[in-house]
Amino acid sequence: MTFDYRNGVLCAEQTPLDDIAQRFGTPCYVYSRAAVEAAYREFIDALAGRDARVCYSVKANSNLAILALLARLGAGFDIVSGGELARVLAAGGDASKTLFSGVGKSEAEIQFALERGIGCINVESEAELERIARIAKRLGQRAPIALRVNPDIDARTHPYISTGLRETKFGVAYADAERLYRHAAGLRELDIVGIGCHVGSLLNDPAPFVAAAQRLGELVDRLQAAGIALRHIDVGGGIGIRYKDETMQPITAFVRGALSALGNRGQQVVFDPGRSLVGNAGVLVTRIEYVKFGEARNFLVVDAAMNDLIRPPLYGAWHDVRTVRKTEAGPAPAVYDVVGPVCESADFLAKERQLSAREGDLLAIMSAGAYGMVMSSNYNSRPRAAEVLVDGTAAHLVRRRECVAELFAAEQIPVRQSRSSRD
Ligand SMILES: *Cc1c(COP(=O)(O)O)cnc(C)c1O
Repeated sequence: MTFDYRNGVLCAEQTPLDDIAQRFGTPCYVYSRAAVEAAYREFIDALAGRDARVCYSVKANSNLAILALLARLGAGFDIVSGGELARVLAAGGDASKTLFSGVGKSEAEIQFALERGIGCINVESEAELERIARIAKRLGQRAPIALRVNPDIDARTHPYISTGLRETKFGVAYADAERLYRHAAGLRELDIVGIGCHVGSLLNDPAPFVAAAQRLGELVDRLQAAGIALRHIDVGGGIGIRYKDETMQPITAFVRGALSALGNRGQQVVFDPGRSLVGNAGVLVTRIEYVKFGEARNFLVVDAAMNDLIRPPLYGAWHDVRTVRKTEAGPAPAVYDVVGPVCESADFLAKERQLSAREGDLLAIMSAGAYGMVMSSNYNSRPRAAEVLVDGTAAHLVRRRECVAELFAAEQIPVRQSRSSRD
């Protein structure tokens, strides 16, 4: 296991988390290189013998060290902004193996992507199709595109992360796709390379994922008959991880299901997983500032907060909480809410957990490798946490902790202030 107790101390691989906290301070995100690699290899092994590619969804965790690690393993990338493309390039990723998704790509972002040789732009509307054609013409280029098609499948998941339904802002309608492909085929500036979809996040059952792949396959055949040949089919991401005790189908089940739904069609098959590659490869280490016994509830007030990890208040997400040191002679266990210093009632990391802990002890918030640091903010003028990548017994600082001066370095007070309030 990646995060396990050794001599009573929770470790990332072979590195004790209390050593990391000592060296780099808290709160601190800690990632395991081996865990990221193992998850990536699970995809690659299940895809053996097939023309396929795994494009890591950068938004799940965009630290350069994570991107560089995946680039070295051969991964492509799935991005949703010009900023993410800049990160991929800075990390040594290959633009030609990168897909650009998202409903709101700006002119500048599209131009940047085309100039850098993006592999494919996943188009989400007719208006975007026109915009890309216009920019490509100006640049004297042909833009590689795919349509992100909305397969209208209910991922039976949380409504905020269910993106394959008709009501969401994502993708073009399934019924509209063929017409748009024909339209695109008439635009010389566009090079139609593929088709994509993404049914939603946190899937624990391959059924909706496989159903979407099936629907894409049917559309690909119809396009083929109409003379529009595609080179790749992107079946999306969204494969869940175990946070608590959910029954989870392994990555292999999703991959095999999608491959068999696509049968022996000749296109390259693309997967764009985010969470399933990094989610269980990271923890958030935090120190207990105060133990507070209240009238109705008891609290462990820790030095991490909702600005560091917003998933619990935003989605009602459950993260396991473990004490970094397992002590037999510790204080009597009690039931606590684990809360941060931010001035919001929504500032909690976990509720009603039985823990044996005292002031100064370290806690690990588990399964925090995806949608953790990337969604962090500076709310309450809190500098963002440090990030550390562990490789065996080595711990590498991959993002230093912010300092307070940086938080307002971009701000300025107008030189000529209005005098009215003082007159
Ligand atoms: C967010 C996203 C993903 C990754 O989702 P996960 O649940 O992290 O696997 C993949 N593709 C697209 C288009 C996305 O927007």
